Amino acid sequence: MKILIAEDEFVSRKILNKQLSVFGEVDIASNGKEALTAVKMALDEHEPYELICLDIMMNEVDGIKALQGIRRLEDQVGVKEGSRVKILMASGISDKKMVLAAAKAGCDGYLIKPITKPRLYEELTKLGIETP
Ligand SMILES: [Mg+2]
Repeated sequence: MKILIAEDEFVSRKILNKQLSVFGEVDIASNGKEALTAVKMALDEHEPYELICLDIMMNEVDGIKALQGIRRLEDQVGVKEGSRVKILMASGISDKKMVLAAAKAGCDGYLIKPITKPRLYEELTKLGIETP
């Protein structure tokens, strides 16, 4: 499985990378702008990501804007509804407004930091991804 992590904090990035690397090849972006570049490159190369973990609070382009941008890129190249990349949002804030905004922008799940393995696996299972 091809995975992208977009996270601006070193420690969170390292933990998530370790947790997700058992599921496949992981690419890392340190803000939303890099995440959009990575997604565009992957779509252009016809090797799209299958899972993206997006931090909400990031510089340059935040997670919600990146999420909207990713869905727009998918629409532009004609990715069908069922083939869209699964996107999990991650945030330290359990802000209801944020969760609603992310849901509206088309995310597939939501994780509150610190992200624990059981919670991550629960979300992955919900997305139909097999966990060890
Ligand atoms: Mg952050």
